Amino acid sequence: MDADVIVVGAGAAGLAAARRLSRRNVLVLEARERIGGRVHTDRSFAGFPMERGAELVTGLTAELAREAGLSTLPAMSTWHGRIADRGRVRRILPWLAPAAVQYAGLIRAVRASGDRPDRSLGELLRERSAGVKTRRFAATMANDACTDVDELSVHYLRRVLAAGEETGRNSRLAQGFDRLIEYLAEGVTIVRGAPVTHVEWSDGGVRVEADRTYTARQAVITLPLAVLQAGVVGFGPELPPAKREAIAGLRMYPGVKVLMRFAKRLWPKDMSYLVLDEGVLWPPRPDEPVLVAFVTGPRARSADIQALSTVLGEPPTTIDVVDWAADPWTRGGYSSEPPGAARLRTALAEPCGPLHFAGEATDSLAPGTVGAAIRSGVRAAEEITR
Ligand SMILES: Cc1cc2nc3c(=O)[nH]c(=O)nc-3n(C[C@H](O)[C@H](O)[C@H](O)COP(=O)(O)OP(=O)(O)OC[C@H]3O[C@@H](n4cnc5c(N)ncnc54)[C@H](O)[C@@H]3O)c2cc1C
Repeated sequence: MDADVIVVGAGAAGLAAARRLSRRNVLVLEARERIGGRVHTDRSFAGFPMERGAELVTGLTAELAREAGLSTLPAMSTWHGRIADRGRVRRILPWLAPAAVQYAGLIRAVRASGDRPDRSLGELLRERSAGVKTRRFAATMANDACTDVDELSVHYLRRVLAAGEETGRNSRLAQGFDRLIEYLAEGVTIVRGAPVTHVEWSDGGVRVEADRTYTARQAVITLPLAVLQAGVVGFGPELPPAKREAIAGLRMYPGVKVLMRFAKRLWPKDMSYLVLDEGVLWPPRPDEPVLVAFVTGPRARSADIQALSTVLGEPPTTIDVVDWAADPWTRGGYSSEPPGAARLRTALAEPCGPLHFAGEATDSLAPGTVGAAIRSGVRAAEEITR
């Protein structure tokens, strides 16, 4: 055998699993030449680290960053948020104020939805005859969740609100998110440029086809949901029906980030973010003439990048469109959950024989985050050591 455990994928989930299994002989197989998956820091676009993927740090990730000795910078603050409304940039809180009671009512309805059958946020908005402002705010929640309101499960929102992780998204890693990935990867054996094409599994162990054949007693599969959905990695025997149903039933819509550098800053220095109809824009550093646009879900397929980049008047001098759906090793942004699909995450996480499953999509608490990926990797490692 080449290892006790083979981990497929060197993203946050795979590295967290390998780190937790450090007493065993573990081998991580990674398709790309770099590690980190959807954490990808760019140091050439601006004079500071720019995040092409994950950027905002949540509870568990912030904890790990502290452990790694990394410093954080404050990020999104609603107090300093703006919204573009009919061609004007407005402060978000005074803009939302006339709809505050209605918006608070919506959040209360989400929090109280637990004993009712699940439905979409879109349905709830229609039932409450929500006005334009509440609907625009709901659209930003759907953008955060990489979907649209008509496919966003209210039960999912309730869980995320209860976990407090969404509201905890308030810092960035000053030295770059990849420093946290490097911390997770310390001492882990990783084979890069090893795209896995097939996994044979039985009670005797696993046989994994990549740049060559690898064998081990067990494997942790951390392939992104959309890679599993595309069927580009074969399993023999086929995965059980419950697992295939989970893979097909969850969603992974596109996630696009647009990095833009301008000749000068065209926005107020204290602007923390700007909500647009299509998504959201933010300056990753307050003093730099740089903006990032973030558009997810079905709308990302037809996003008008030209309109997005000129919303503040002048066009950027440099622009870099990062479309994660076009990347064969990701094929989308991050997973989302249509109404009634919560149990599918549990089914996706369920081990079968020597195969264990991790990755953000397997986490029920706050999927679609680096924290979720790390939590899932640790969970899969603990299944193995138990
Ligand atoms: C644009 C964008 C913005 C985001 N913003 C945030 C944010 O602000 N905060 C936050 O917490 N989260 C954010 N996320 C989500 C976060 O990035 C992910 O939830 C997390 O990084 C997923 O980690 P993972 O290990 O589950 O998957 P991945 O990071 O995708 O890792 C999977 C690994 O498997 C590898 N792989 C794929 N196919 C194969 C194969 N055939 N053989 C071998 N290896 C393979 C991939 O190359 C990859 O390295 C964002 C994501 C995107 C796309």
